[in-house]
Amino acid sequence: MRKNTQLDDTRCVVPPETPLEGFASLAVPVYRASTIVFPNAGAYRSRADRAPDGYTYGLSGTPTTRTLEAQLSALHDAQRTITVPSGQAAITATMLTLLKSGDHLLVTDNVYPPVKQFTRKILGESGVETEFFDPTRVADLEARLRPGRTRLVWVESPGSTSMEICDIPDISRVSKAAGALLGCDNTWATGLLCKPLELGVDIVAEALTKYVGGHSDLLLGAIILRDMELYARIRGTLSYLGIGVSPDDCSLALRGLQTMGLRLRHVGEVSEELAYRLAEHSRHTVLHPCLPNCPGHRLWQRDFKGSSGVFSLQLDGISADAVDGALNELKTFAIGASWGGTRSIIAPMVIADDRHVMPSSEATTYLRISVGLENVDDLWADLHRLIGMVST
Ligand SMILES: *Cc1c(COP(=O)(O)O)cnc(C)c1O
Repeated sequence: MRKNTQLDDTRCVVPPETPLEGFASLAVPVYRASTIVFPNAGAYRSRADRAPDGYTYGLSGTPTTRTLEAQLSALHDAQRTITVPSGQAAITATMLTLLKSGDHLLVTDNVYPPVKQFTRKILGESGVETEFFDPTRVADLEARLRPGRTRLVWVESPGSTSMEICDIPDISRVSKAAGALLGCDNTWATGLLCKPLELGVDIVAEALTKYVGGHSDLLLGAIILRDMELYARIRGTLSYLGIGVSPDDCSLALRGLQTMGLRLRHVGEVSEELAYRLAEHSRHTVLHPCLPNCPGHRLWQRDFKGSSGVFSLQLDGISADAVDGALNELKTFAIGASWGGTRSIIAPMVIADDRHVMPSSEATTYLRISVGLENVDDLWADLHRLIGMVST
């Protein structure tokens, strides 16, 4: 060994204690951690006693993730929230926890398409049977419920692309009567426009990727609950799978949440305005729950506090080439998946033939429109040109 054993290695590794006292930042700091240290060996040995809210290891939460979770719980009048890496993960972690071989699952047929793939592939291959039901007919759900076998009923309201609103209180009533739990994807509304736990839902899932993040630059999801036993079971699944979230992403979500009220008010107002104008100027069907002829309009008025920025335009009898030609002329809308950011997005969607709503012809495309924060005249100029191009 040479002289370099004299280097100050320990000073490099152990930072001096810096007081936090007086550091009252308005922003929630980003706390990064894998290891959490304990004051003594006994505290380490009994670390399980810190559950469910204390800190034991980075994977199970940091003050940054806990703050975001507590803020979402407050928004929903919930007991606890669990953050997960995506909206899809919020749904699949819930289903994996609640369903085992031999169980039966009922899902609305207008659900976010990757959820259908999950039920067919992962759940189907592990012996869980899934059936899809018409989101607009509680009687259809009732006929398919199998008391003692149906563990979970899953709804998405409004549903992806076709925008039906579910009668959640009624669905809750028949699900409970059959002994099934009820889960709801509330991504479109967020806790600001709808609080499904108050309507009889047991588990709320949201893609924070959309309106909470709000800027198209993060992926995150949330599972929001009142029942502490359900909470412990889902936390267990995530811990066994080794799934956690980054405090950096949670910090961005906390920032997004601060302006979500303003953004939603704005995009809700503009999406309603554009939906009315499209309905007036085009022969095509506009699917927006604010429109009196849209399925679920009455339920939307009863259960929602307003509109967010996503709706669809149903183009009947127009070839895919003609639709694409019109989309390629858009100046302000960007073409892409996902939504809920500051930029307006449009995406051509095809509805699979396993839906209660069937396209009226082979040449039917649904345009999913997400309104952002651009000037409404620029957005209307795009949409007006588009409906002109697909008017024949
Ligand atoms: C986007 C979306 C999801 C999935 O969210 P990710 O964070 O992209 O996984 C789930 N449900 C609905 C209704 C969505 O729009």
